[in-house]
Amino acid sequence: MELTVWIRFSDIVQPVEIREKVQALSLDFGYHYEVKLEPLELAFAARPTKSGHRLEGGFDYAATAPCVRCLKHVPVSGSARFDLEYRPASQAPQEEDVEFAPGEAEIIYYEEDKLPLEEIVSQQMYLELPDKLLCRDDCKGLCPRCGADLNEGACACPPAADDRLTLSPPPKQKES
Ligand SMILES: [Zn+2]
Ligand SMILES: [Zn+2]
Repeated sequence: MELTVWIRFSDIVQPVEIREKVQALSLDFGYHYEVKLEPLELAFAARPTKSGHRLEGGFDYAATAPCVRCLKHVPVSGSARFDLEYRPASQAPQEEDVEFAPGEAEIIYYEEDKLPLEEIVSQQMYLELPDKLLCRDDCKGLCPRCGADLNEGACACPPAADDRLTLSPPPKQKES
């Protein structure tokens, strides 16, 4: 069984409803920011447009992603919706100053006729995740010196007050 599910734009010559299971994914968004996604079901309507194909749909997800302070994986879940227009790269405008009217689908230019469905999921998850995911509002994070998880108690390093002093810029002198 092939794990990756593809669609081929050139096969879509009339509107179709697509419903496909996507296997569990581990997405690496860089800087060790890894998101682990449970298997999900992706459902969307695909239809040819004047210059490409419009894909409109969504999926429910359950995932874990690292807390930005202590890096512990935190469960996140939700429902992602997308409205995308895929056009062949040959259609990409040469000019930089292209303006999009609000409410229009986001346009994505592709080189290859084949689109792995995992790519849609990955792109949407990148947009879905909060900028600063925390395991709890008052997560104490990791000690910047020894890396200990401060949620589990203080480490042997000097008190945090000292770190704050060294990390913040010196107070500005008022000229009088
Ligand atoms: Zn945390
Ligand atoms: Zn420490």
